[in-house]
Amino acid sequence: MQKGTIQVQTENIFPIIKKFLYSDHDIFLRELISNAVDASQKLKTLSSIGEAKGEVGDLLIEVKLDEENKTITISDRGIGMSAAEVEKYLNQVAFSGAEEFVKKYKGQNENAIIGKFGLGFYSAFMVSDKVEVFTKSFKEDAPAVRWECDGSPEYMLEETNKTDRGTDIVLHINEESAEFLDPERIRGILLRFCRFLPVPIYFRHKNEEADAPPINNTQPAWKKKPSELTAEDYQNFYKELYQYNEPPLFWIHLNVDYPFNLTGILYFPKIKQSYEIQKDKIQLYSNQVFVTDEVKDIVPEFLMLLHGVIDSPDIPLNVSRSYLQGDPNVKKINNHITKKVADKLEELFNKERKEFEGKWDNLGLFVKYGMMTDDKFMERGNKFHLFEVAGSAEGEKKFYTLDELRMATETLQKNKDGKLVILYTTDIVQQDAYIRGAEAKGYIVVKLDTIIDPSFVNQMETKWNDVTFNRVDADIADNLIDKQENLDSVLSKDDEATLKGLFDIKMTGLSMTVEVKGLSTEAPPVVATRPEFMRRMKDMASMSGPMGSFYANMPDEVTLTVNGNHPIYQQVLKNDDKAIQEKVVHNLADLALLSQGLLKGSNLTNFITRSVDLMGAKESEVGNIK
Ligand code: ADP
Repeated sequence: MQKGTIQVQTENIFPIIKKFLYSDHDIFLRELISNAVDASQKLKTLSSIGEAKGEVGDLLIEVKLDEENKTITISDRGIGMSAAEVEKYLNQVAFSGAEEFVKKYKGQNENAIIGKFGLGFYSAFMVSDKVEVFTKSFKEDAPAVRWECDGSPEYMLEETNKTDRGTDIVLHINEESAEFLDPERIRGILLRFCRFLPVPIYFRHKNEEADAPPINNTQPAWKKKPSELTAEDYQNFYKELYQYNEPPLFWIHLNVDYPFNLTGILYFPKIKQSYEIQKDKIQLYSNQVFVTDEVKDIVPEFLMLLHGVIDSPDIPLNVSRSYLQGDPNVKKINNHITKKVADKLEELFNKERKEFEGKWDNLGLFVKYGMMTDDKFMERGNKFHLFEVAGSAEGEKKFYTLDELRMATETLQKNKDGKLVILYTTDIVQQDAYIRGAEAKGYIVVKLDTIIDPSFVNQMETKWNDVTFNRVDADIADNLIDKQENLDSVLSKDDEATLKGLFDIKMTGLSMTVEVKGLSTEAPPVVATRPEFMRRMKDMASMSGPMGSFYANMPDEVTLTVNGNHPIYQQVLKNDDKAIQEKVVHNLADLALLSQGLLKGSNLTNFITRSVDLMGAKESEVGNIK
């Protein structure tokens, strides 16, 4: 038997380690099991090159919980340690690491550096009064040893009679950590951190069935070659990760070995409603050990909507935000993922366009978000970002890329500066009349009606220099060189002037301009439009803050385009009851405003009163107007 004192100047190393690690005590189990996995893998390697003789046998790890004796034991059948190795690895190396650690970080509140110093094993002392290690090396001639330490720098090392190869680590759980004697707690931690470790892990407890299966899947899909996997395998793995989710749209299998090591599978989830978006669904692993599901710095912001797994041994187990931000590999990983996602989308678009279009409802959100937040991705996205044509019927949806839209509209949808004017609708039902009107003139109207589209429009207008957006119900003439601009109506100049006079109506909060034009007889009698600029300003009025209320208080500018070709005006002009004439015209104006959502407050009340009035009017008073 041998006794000794570990060479550390700092007497109170453990209190400091405990303090630093305090925020996440659960990780002791992860650290000890990672060591057990390493020891098992090392044995496999040594055996395969003939350095370890004898049977490898079933390599497995057991976690035993004994509430009566207040112990947790982690056992492996790995390489084990000789007395000299215990001294070297558990005493000198770790303690010198601990010393360096304490020197460097004393007084700082950094809690995640343990891993860098090879102190994983010492996390055992966060939850234990005493730790015992029973270990027997794979080297036949090395006797088994027992190491014991109570958390002071004093340790004890002696020979013991363990006969089988491997290591048992016995933690005597301290009083403050009694929570870890709860089997459900331990099971939870195992499932969180060890679910995909490569060596089978069995949880042993008196309540557990003796022949219960291992708690982990030792061969998770991301570790396999894509060629070995079927679509079903990918879908099953998705189910394994997220029990209640709908099947994913598609997935990307990541596999990089240079200049950094990275594997993983990223899934594009189906999103039925934009508000269902869930972030933090990507899990980060390091050699199959779970690290975190906060992948903020590793995965580009717009891809946080993806689900799945990323595994990189280049990511240390004990990641902290500040570490990730400073790490050059992280930036590379980030760029790589962006590129892979763009590759996959482009491939899908080129090879299976119909299918890609079918998924656009879901995909559009990622692509747009990506294009807005990441210029590199935007360059790629320009090729496969799609505009859905507003008029297309369900089942035969029509889509254009930006370039295709440019070609399809030729010179028709150009403004005075030669920019492409993208006419869009935010509400195909409400803006139906405008869409039909625009389409009748040969324009293409696209649908931009998702939650992200208002920002997308604003951003793309600055990013695509030769494009401008114009909502279909906005003053198109403002922007577009209207091919039918100077259409005269069938009315005489005098009648046009009379009509214009009748439409000269004052309304609260609205500043109106009236023009008479000869639109098609099928077009509505009056069309209300707002300048695109003004409408956007007003949309911003819904923002909070001083600018919001500033915009909210500005009067709404509206142009009423009176369709002189509409038959109703022949009747109106014929009616010689001036009062009725005014009421009917006022109602027509109100209806146009109503379809723009601009008829509010007293204006709306007046409209209702007037309508009731008109309905009650005698036939003789209204004339033939019906
Ligand atoms: P790290 O794992 O970061 O090297 P640790 O403090 O966790 O630091 O472990 C120190 C060393 O002790 C390991 O590198 C390994 O050589 C040895 N070791 C720890 N646990 C085991 C085990 N279960 N079986 C064999 N060797 C072990």
